[in-house]
Amino acid sequence: MVIVLEKNIAEEKIELIIKQLEEFEFSVHRSTGIEQIVLGAIGVHPTFDTRKVKVLDGVAEVYRITEPFKLASRSFQKKNTEIKIKNVVIGGNEIEVMAGPCAVENEEQIFEIAEIVSKAGAKILRGGAFKPRTSPYSFQGLGEKGLKLLRKAADKNKLIVISELMEPKHVHLLEEYADIIQIGARNMQNFPLLKAVGKSKTPVMLKRGLAAKVEDLLMSAEYILASGNPNVILCERGIRTFETYTRNTFDISAIPVIHKRSHLPIVADPSHATGIRDKVLPMARAAVAAGADGIMIEVHNHPEKALSDGPQSLLPDQFTELMKQIKLIAKVIDRNL
Ligand code: PEP
Ligand code: MN
Repeated sequence: MVIVLEKNIAEEKIELIIKQLEEFEFSVHRSTGIEQIVLGAIGVHPTFDTRKVKVLDGVAEVYRITEPFKLASRSFQKKNTEIKIKNVVIGGNEIEVMAGPCAVENEEQIFEIAEIVSKAGAKILRGGAFKPRTSPYSFQGLGEKGLKLLRKAADKNKLIVISELMEPKHVHLLEEYADIIQIGARNMQNFPLLKAVGKSKTPVMLKRGLAAKVEDLLMSAEYILASGNPNVILCERGIRTFETYTRNTFDISAIPVIHKRSHLPIVADPSHATGIRDKVLPMARAAVAAGADGIMIEVHNHPEKALSDGPQSLLPDQFTELMKQIKLIAKVIDRNL
């Protein structure tokens, strides 16, 4: 931690600040500049609340140097985390595509869509069985029945499965039917849920919250890692801003920022990030170009009849075109798809 002191501060005040820092178990180094005095406080306290120093009399600014997350950080592990699930590796050279409907609606729907996305080259089938909906009157998902259909449709097409978990009591259901457990944006800071998936052996994809900083996302990942599950995938799905022409604002810069700060793979979800079908292809291209380790795309065979997120779901032909285009972009940056 670097502490900049107020200009012309009295020596007695400096001594009081140093004494307090030592009581917080930091060792303190003092350097005197032309105009201001700067203190360097050294000590490993990942949970230290820097406000405790900000409020001290005579302190002008406080800067944290070390990151508050540890297991998720690049300094803890230099090498990228690669998560191997059957024939898929997330975080390696290959960019993995997760595609499917927002929600599993019925047998015919999920079987048709699984075949479409598999033929287009995706390896992971998505589909919600437990749906976090803004309105309690909207379709809430088929529950276990939905998970069973999703698994059957995936197996028939040699795909692996990702689906969302909303309550700790359903972890065993997700473990049984899914290969990756999704934690949705609205639950990014649902700490009991994070601890529950942290105790699971199934890989987890954690989506960035609507109003979460990248640091908040990494702190939530830290919960899962600290609870014992090393297989965490992060997901940028757009954040809330003042912009209204898109559903959310796609923070593409989060992709290189996360790669620099963390060893965990990062997937991009341009469907939820933009919320409008015609924006999904250009943003998917951008995500791949920015270095995403995977992309998640909503696809529907009859989006006009979809029970959720129809307007952002791609039509089958649009998805096939998307796969073709992102393959070309992957090649430019020396990645496979
Ligand atoms: C979803 O993937 O269908 C979903 C609800 O996403 P998010 O949590 O990003 O809104
Ligand atoms: Mn959706």
